[in-house]
Amino acid sequence: TKWVFGFGDGKAEGTAGMRNLLGGKGANLAEMSNLGLPVPPGFTITTEVCTWFDSHDKTYPDELRAQVDAALDEVGRITGRRFGDTSNPLLVSVRSGARVSMPGMMDTVLNLGLNDETVPALAAAAGDPRFAYDSYRRFIQMYSDVVMGLDHHAFEEILEEFKNEHGRDLDTDLTADDWQQVIASYKALVEDELGTPFPQDPHEQLWGAIGAVFLSWESARAITYRRLHDIPNDWGTAVNVQAMVFGNMGEDSATGVAFTRNPSTGEKALYGEFLINAQGEDVVAGIRTPQDITEAARIAAGSDALSLEKAMPEAFAQFTEICDRLEGHYRDMQDLEFTIERGRLWMLQTRSGKRTARAALKIAVEMADEGLITTEEAVMRVDPAALDQLLHPMIDPAAERDVIATGLPASPGAASGAIVFSSDEAEEAKAAGRKVILVRVETSPEDIHGMHAAEGILTTRGGMTSHAAVVARGMGKPCVSGAGALRIDYRTATLTVSGRKLAKGDVITIDGTTGQVLVGEVAMLQPEMSGEFARLMEWADAHRRMAVRTNAETPADARAARGFGAEGIGLCRTEHMFFEGERIVAVREMILSETEQGRRAALDKLLPMQRGDFTELFEIMQGLPVTIRLLDPPLHEFLPHSEEEIAEVAAVMGVDSEVLRQRAHDLNEFNPMLGHRGCRLLVTYPEIAEMQARAIFEGAVAAGKTTGSPVTPEIMVPLVGVKAELDLVRARIDAMAKAVAQETGITIDYQVGTMIELPRACLRAGEIAETAEFFSFGTNDLTQTTFGISRDDAASFLGPYQRMGVIERDPFVSLDQEGVGELIRIGAERGRAARAGLKLGICGEHGGDPASITFCESVGLDYVSCSPFRVPIARLAAAQAAL
Ligand code: ADP
Ligand code: MG
Ligand code: MG
Repeated sequence: TKWVFGFGDGKAEGTAGMRNLLGGKGANLAEMSNLGLPVPPGFTITTEVCTWFDSHDKTYPDELRAQVDAALDEVGRITGRRFGDTSNPLLVSVRSGARVSMPGMMDTVLNLGLNDETVPALAAAAGDPRFAYDSYRRFIQMYSDVVMGLDHHAFEEILEEFKNEHGRDLDTDLTADDWQQVIASYKALVEDELGTPFPQDPHEQLWGAIGAVFLSWESARAITYRRLHDIPNDWGTAVNVQAMVFGNMGEDSATGVAFTRNPSTGEKALYGEFLINAQGEDVVAGIRTPQDITEAARIAAGSDALSLEKAMPEAFAQFTEICDRLEGHYRDMQDLEFTIERGRLWMLQTRSGKRTARAALKIAVEMADEGLITTEEAVMRVDPAALDQLLHPMIDPAAERDVIATGLPASPGAASGAIVFSSDEAEEAKAAGRKVILVRVETSPEDIHGMHAAEGILTTRGGMTSHAAVVARGMGKPCVSGAGALRIDYRTATLTVSGRKLAKGDVITIDGTTGQVLVGEVAMLQPEMSGEFARLMEWADAHRRMAVRTNAETPADARAARGFGAEGIGLCRTEHMFFEGERIVAVREMILSETEQGRRAALDKLLPMQRGDFTELFEIMQGLPVTIRLLDPPLHEFLPHSEEEIAEVAAVMGVDSEVLRQRAHDLNEFNPMLGHRGCRLLVTYPEIAEMQARAIFEGAVAAGKTTGSPVTPEIMVPLVGVKAELDLVRARIDAMAKAVAQETGITIDYQVGTMIELPRACLRAGEIAETAEFFSFGTNDLTQTTFGISRDDAASFLGPYQRMGVIERDPFVSLDQEGVGELIRIGAERGRAARAGLKLGICGEHGGDPASITFCESVGLDYVSCSPFRVPIARLAAAQAAL
């Protein structure tokens, strides 16, 4: 077996495509060598050796030693040096490198091969003893730390002490003699601590470092990291052994890192830092302040330290040429490491650079425009979930932050406003043109109007799927939930945290992207929806199969969703309309009436309001499909709570408060989620379905006239489990359609379908599809009913379940594809078998989750529907799923 792959001198045994075998670093070192770039020669010990090592009691395959020796000889031949030679020694670095870059792996060891005999030879060869002893002391410290487990602080202390004693300020002030003294102390420390001298045999050093890399693959840190990132244990890591080049050989030497484009803005400009007369990780270690690579960056930063462009113009010119070449070759922004030894440039690493969402977008679009990548590739290069960051205002990274508490990042974006503690106050403030943050212990359905009015929502209790979090995400409003350090006192209208007290009216800022709560107003950056964003969305739309609709009931949401490119409404929850303003009184009147006649009287009051709602929605959507779900929540939710509320309804109905209190008590439910709700309401109180159907048809007639485009409403019956339920409700809807057609002389085209949210409905989808013209999978409830857990009560065990690995992800955030997903598959198949062309969609939060959207594509759904602010994410995710 071939365990070792060499590179250098304009060629290599490996290629970039061999990442699995050579690791990312090794594969790219080979590729750069093949391209003829100046790469110090070396070799890669494959990941297969790591796997062997782990499964053979930490031993190596027999042929390995000979292959390593041969590869070392080849490196020696290319460099004209020999490993361990006491007149012209070859020094190497030992670098780990898995398929993906992975914290927890062994740190790089530089200058390996130095010992008491080779160090004078290096001094002579370089004509610079200071440099040689500087390298040796670095090596002893690094090797002792990384391979032998001696804490580097002990070495730093020795150095500090020496500097103090001898009046040396900077490391660069130390002479060759100084370093020799430090080295003696270092070696004594090693012998004291470990009971053995620092290894002098270069081969022993090399195999020690190789073994340390393989052992680090099994370190606790690495194992944890793999578990968190789904990286299989059997991938293994490779080891790269590479001839040293020296950035610490004086003022004409340097080391640095660079990105071919700006990784935070995406701007097409070389971006990076370097240090003169330094080695390896000095740049990131912060020992000295690094200098800018380009003159433009230096000027922008207002720095007077020389740029590489000015300091070493020739090396700089060569480097920019190589940057262009590598970016063109890999067709992606590259993150590079380089070293300049006495004016000569060497490339030490290249890989695709990490970047912010903003940069990812700009780079993808510009590279497509440059013809470097296709538009398909551009679409694939942007992470849909990261897009979320770009759709909301964010706190200016340069702004100062006075953080008083941190809760959960429940809904992204940032907002500032005056504190209010109730939804009514929020609404009043909004009406008066003031911006507020609604601060509550937690929110409930009755806070919807306050949440709408507020710029953002802050709660002290509740998790990522609490009412506040879910509703805020749906509205696209920033929300920080569960900021438990804050104490709210509603009575005195104050908020306290660790000794600081804020009152109603004080301005705060919340950052729903990080969960931070800040005092005062903080500078924001507004989202940029045109330009590159619009271009990428256009390309995504050209490649996607599924339509993207939105969940919206208010005109504001519907308009926002249209702006984000929604192609219709997939879910209009009519009950949200029932909570608005004065309507709740009429709704309560309807519920609390004991007779059909009483209910009809109350419904008559609601009809014009509902008609108005629907007319406006149809007008905004301009003929795009609109799915309206008939009343769904348990009656329970509409019941009056306080004496005041009961008295109010009693007065309107002209009945005694006591009677009403009793009736409300009778309607109380133990398990409202499994109670009198959805089509069960519509079956038992068909007049509700009739009123809503009438409002829909009359609204469609009205909107058809004003917009000139015919409206085709899709009427959705919730929570159907038995076909007969749908039949009964459908009969009422059909009859109402006829009645409205007769009254207005206008026939409305419409569809009746159902929300599939019960396991029984999935199983019996065949017969339900005989009546239903469309299915919309209501995956929030379907998840609750499939798991038999209530979303509102699940936080106490879902968290521990995730930590213990019982479940991988919160099934309310990302669809449980095996369980709930199987029911969806069954429902889709059986439904389509019964009715060809049955329209299938998904509504509920999963419709905006990229992983769930990929699943929807695999089942062949016709559309996904999600909250307005997630529409762009869904458009991009749907395109990626189709590509
Ligand atoms: P990491 O994965 O942490 O970046 P690297 O193996 O890339 O670790 O190396 C750390 C530092 O050491 C980098 O700055 C790199 O450029 C430098 N380095 C690695 N090998 C050599 C070498 N052969 N000669 C000079 N510098 C090297
Ligand atoms: Mg490192
Ligand atoms: Mg590196």
